[in-house]
Amino acid sequence: MGEYSIEWLKSLCHFLAQQPQDTFDASMLANRIGRHDSALAAFVGGENAPSSMRGYATDDRKLHGWRCLQCGHSEASSRDIENLIAQDVVPKLIFQSCQRCTLDKLVDQSLAFDIPDLDTMRQSLATEVTGCGIALVDRDGWMRPCPNCGNNDTAVYRWRLVVSDELGFEPADDNLPMHR
Ligand SMILES: [Zn+2]
Repeated sequence: MGEYSIEWLKSLCHFLAQQPQDTFDASMLANRIGRHDSALAAFVGGENAPSSMRGYATDDRKLHGWRCLQCGHSEASSRDIENLIAQDVVPKLIFQSCQRCTLDKLVDQSLAFDIPDLDTMRQSLATEVTGCGIALVDRDGWMRPCPNCGNNDTAVYRWRLVVSDELGFEPADDNLPMHR
């Protein structure tokens, strides 16, 4: 999470430094500041990056885990949920703080990992993950063989976070196809 925070603060500082006189609201910042801006700036200059590579709002938020390509057994870990939160929550908090001019406080918060409602967020995401048939496990290494069917045909897998009336997860487009 720390790394995400730092990347975002860098992107934000880069953006605000370009127009120090202006003020911005949260949604405007969400559309203008991309996840990779600070990295892009180093290569091509942030404002020269193609718009498809910029903007937070256009990025899918993905849960990373493992899936058995034979039986479909799926697993994610609490660390994977933390990463998902970091992709989503940290930028949003930063944008809102910008709007409210409390960025100095937010920097302290995110570096100290002291995010309001974080526990609630962890819990509701964990509930949704298991509700979508993804087992929540404490595993650091590979899921191989599959704990369900014993096959070695397992792969890293990604699920897109879907936010409509409620949260949900569906398989992302960039996964290996199921083998049966
Ligand atoms: Zn299996």
